[in-house]
Amino acid sequence: MRHLSSLEKNQLPLEIIQTPCPLCGSSDYKILFEKEGFRHVRCLGCELVYVNPRLKFHTDFQTFSGTGSMGEERLSNAQIWRICKELSKFDGYRELNRLLEIGPGKGWFLSMAKLMGWDAWAVEINADAIESLKKKGIKNIITCSAEDYQTDSGSFDAIRIWDVIEHLESPKRMMENVFKALRPGGLLRLSTTNFNSLSRVINGPDWVYLNGADHIILFDSVTIRKLLLSVGFRRLCVRTRSFNLRRKLYHPERDINVRFHPLTPLRKIIDETIKFSSFGHQMIIDAVKDA
Ligand SMILES: [Zn+2]
Repeated sequence: MRHLSSLEKNQLPLEIIQTPCPLCGSSDYKILFEKEGFRHVRCLGCELVYVNPRLKFHTDFQTFSGTGSMGEERLSNAQIWRICKELSKFDGYRELNRLLEIGPGKGWFLSMAKLMGWDAWAVEINADAIESLKKKGIKNIITCSAEDYQTDSGSFDAIRIWDVIEHLESPKRMMENVFKALRPGGLLRLSTTNFNSLSRVINGPDWVYLNGADHIILFDSVTIRKLLLSVGFRRLCVRTRSFNLRRKLYHPERDINVRFHPLTPLRKIIDETIKFSSFGHQMIIDAVKDA
């Protein structure tokens, strides 16, 4: 995919289109709420929450904007430790020594994977993110949308997709390709926001992760399982973590002050313990392809 020039991106029309449910294809839905002009609906067929209508040129916008290139310029020791800890989860799956990250953003995880000896691959469309990956010495960069990426069956031991799937027009198409790209016995590790989280229930439409120009699909533990089962995964583990009371408008820089809630004084203790429930705002899913 070629990158859009600044002239072209300013000329992209803000046209919106109605879409059927990206998970089950149904056109029946109920409206949940509208935020900054974006209507959030729940599919009556499969319960998926998604933005409808959405921007017609959503994927084109993601090549130069969105949160695709967000992330830290430098990592703290704690962040490095967390990445090392996560990388250790992939070690038990290393046979071909090939690891793919779809939407790696600044590329910290992938560059540390490379340091650990992995043959590290990236699928990325965001122009700033691609520059960042190149600076970190990642050579295997495939520039295409997550949905369009296809490769030979069984090419990777492990695939990581971190905070990407909520941006996609067709997560099911991506996941079909991911299932094929994993070798039998390989691991998919996926992260996305949890629409059924305590912080979303408390904040309603002001929830920090609701941003209809960017996050167009809002999974919960039920709908993410449906997606993964529909493409062939059978061994799934869904966990949640973190409790975040921040609120936000459409633009990432425009936070709204945190509204007092009776749980506010307990937020630190909730943040530390919510991982024992299914109500954290971040979902992390491990899915293993049957051998
Ligand atoms: Zn549906």
